[in-house]
Amino acid sequence: MILLQETELEAEVPDLDKGGYRRAKLLYRADPLFGHGTRLIEGAKLQPAAEPLGEVVERSGFCPFCADTIDSATAPFPEEISRTGRIIVGNSWVVPNIIAYSAVSAVCVYDVSRHFLSLVDLTRDVIYDALSALTRHAKAAQAVRPELAYSSINANYLPPSGSSLIHPHVQSSLDPVPLGAQRRMIEYSRSHLEAYSRGYFEELVSLEEVSGARFVGWTGPLAWLVPFAPSGFYEAWAVASDHGLISELADDTLYQLATGMSLVMGAYAASGLQSFNFSLMSASPEWRDDGSRLLFRMLARAPLSPYYRSDVTYFERLGQEAMIDYSPEEWAATLRSHFGAGLT
Ligand SMILES: [Zn+2]
Repeated sequence: MILLQETELEAEVPDLDKGGYRRAKLLYRADPLFGHGTRLIEGAKLQPAAEPLGEVVERSGFCPFCADTIDSATAPFPEEISRTGRIIVGNSWVVPNIIAYSAVSAVCVYDVSRHFLSLVDLTRDVIYDALSALTRHAKAAQAVRPELAYSSINANYLPPSGSSLIHPHVQSSLDPVPLGAQRRMIEYSRSHLEAYSRGYFEELVSLEEVSGARFVGWTGPLAWLVPFAPSGFYEAWAVASDHGLISELADDTLYQLATGMSLVMGAYAASGLQSFNFSLMSASPEWRDDGSRLLFRMLARAPLSPYYRSDVTYFERLGQEAMIDYSPEEWAATLRSHFGAGLT
C-alpha cells in the first residue's frame, strides 16, 4: 500500500516587521518511490524572476545543429544503424553523440531549421518528430547490441538546466546498466508488487486519480500527475498504463506523450518559466510483469540570468531533498487548466 505521509514542522523565525520571533510552518514529505524528502516552504522566492531571453538565443557564428552545418559538423551513423547514415523525421535529426555519456548515446535536434525554439515552439508535432526519430535509433542500436537493454531519453534546455548548446536538442542513453533513478524505480516496483500483489504505479495512478488534488489528466494511455513530494520545481510525471520500453513504443503512445509534453511546456511558458530538464525512462527490460512502467518526469530550472544562481543547493545534491516553494496541488490545478484547453 502506498502511504503518502507529510509532517508539519514548526519553526521560529525573526519577525522583521514586528520584532521578536514569529512561528512559521513548513511541510515535510517523502517520496516512497525514489526515497527523497521534500520541504514545502512558505514566504520564500527560491527562483529568480525570468528576464527576456534576448540575444543569447540568437545565432552568432558556428552552430553544429543548424541546417546549413549539421551535415558536415556531425558524423553519420554506421550502416548497421542506418543504411543512409542519417535518421531524420520531419525537421528532427538524430546524430551520434561526440561525448560518451553512455555505451550508446545519440543526440536529436528537434528542428534543424530553427536555431532556437521557445517553449511554445516545442509543439506536439515537433516533439513527436524528435521522439519518433530517437526511438527509431534506440531500436536500431539495440538490434545491433542487445545487451544495451536499459534506455532513456533525456533533455536539458538552456544553460541553467545544464545544456551546453543553445540549439534545443534531446539525448538518449542506451546502457547495459540502468540510470540510478531507473534502477530504483524498477527495484521498488518489484518489491511493492511482491508485498502487496499490486503494481506501485497502478496503485499510484488510481490513488491520485481518486483523490484528484495532484491528478492532471490522461493523454491516451498516459496518466499525468504532479508528484506528492516533487524533486524539483514545477515537476510533472506521465505514467504509462502498461509496461513500456522506449524502443517498442507504439506511434500513438509517442504522439500522446508529445501531446502532454507540449501542454506542460505551454504551462511553463504561461508561468514565466524558461528552462527545464526531462527524463523518459524505460520499464524493466528483463521482467515484464514486475509492475515497473515507462515513466516520464519533467521539472523547471532557474531562468537564464547574467548573474545566474543555480536552483540546485546542497539540499538537492547532498541531502537528497528538494526544497520547493509552491504547492504541488496548486501546480496540478494550473496544469489541469492547460490540459483541459489543449485536449478539447
Ligand atoms: Zn543552431
